[in-house]
Amino acid sequence: MIPRIQTPEHRPVWQTLLAQAVKSTDELLTLLQIDPAQLKTRPLTDNFPLRVPHGFVQRMNKGDSRDPLLLQVLPVQQETVATDGWLCDPLEELDAMPVPGLLHKYRGRALLTVTGACAIHCRYCFRRHFPYADANPTSDHWQPSIKYIEQHPDITELILSGGDPLTLTDARLQSLTDRLADIEHLHTLRIHTRLPIVLPERVDAGLLAWLASQRQKLVMVVHSNHPNEVDAAVIDAMSQLSRAGVTLLNQSVLLQGVNDTATTLINLSERLFAAGVLPYYLHQLDRVQGAAHFDVDTATARKLIAEVSACLPGYLVPRLVQEIPGMPGKTPL
Ligand SMILES: *Cc1c(COP(=O)(O)O)cnc(C)c1O
Ligand code: SF4
Repeated sequence: MIPRIQTPEHRPVWQTLLAQAVKSTDELLTLLQIDPAQLKTRPLTDNFPLRVPHGFVQRMNKGDSRDPLLLQVLPVQQETVATDGWLCDPLEELDAMPVPGLLHKYRGRALLTVTGACAIHCRYCFRRHFPYADANPTSDHWQPSIKYIEQHPDITELILSGGDPLTLTDARLQSLTDRLADIEHLHTLRIHTRLPIVLPERVDAGLLAWLASQRQKLVMVVHSNHPNEVDAAVIDAMSQLSRAGVTLLNQSVLLQGVNDTATTLINLSERLFAAGVLPYYLHQLDRVQGAAHFDVDTATARKLIAEVSACLPGYLVPRLVQEIPGMPGKTPL
């Protein structure tokens, strides 16, 4: 493989777009023509600041302070309210990490957090307090994880996660997968990413070349929560991934004010299907400190999914699941 040149002049478009992401509340609200006085925003003083690519902002409705895409990214005062039972590590992930950065909770598959970086900061994210600095393998630290996978023939699927693995350059992704290529028992590579949704420009020739060079079966689980996220550029990116032989699935998080109506969930499934993506999981929100205002109670969640099931073929109904520490997989509700 000839290494791709990464000089500034040859920097892929997506990297420039990523660098230009909106990082200030003022800028975001100005772009959306929303008067800041309408919202109780919070100052950006913590380690999880606002971040959202311009292309995603363009899918928000101007003047709408309750826009479902805006609510996912806007830091608000409610985040600072401490809620009993809502934790910093609700999934007890740090207990399931045999080597830094590798989570091995479930049989047959392990999850590698390849970076702490994301293209967008989702306010409900369960990893918002994750100590990436301690747990996150930089390129030089992948070796212990790779060794662990080599020594565990029962791991047949590796999930690249983060953060968002597709924020890494193609060259870095290639250097990782070059080291996985010889592990015979590893037959599936899964990528958990929000990039094709929030920055579809990431699906470029370089990424497709990297995917094409893989020996393993490829699965990509994207993450979108609302049909407005899936615009023409996203549909185009997905069809390119599909043509590259990637199995495409979507996971969503059930979020109050964003997608907690049957109509929204139905539209999302139909929109995803138009893009060649099947719904996989609808996650009940993990109880992470600062996200309680997004919570939808379990009874309402069950009722919603029953309504969705009554309107769609089975393959367009996501599985409503919750992650309960210590369980052998996601728990269906
Ligand atoms: C969610 C998760 C997986 C993947 O679970 P699937 O049910 O296979 O999608 C694997 N490892 C960890 C640590 C996870 O949190
Ligand atoms: S892209 Fe995923 S990991 Fe990153 S902030 Fe959003 S939900 Fe969290």
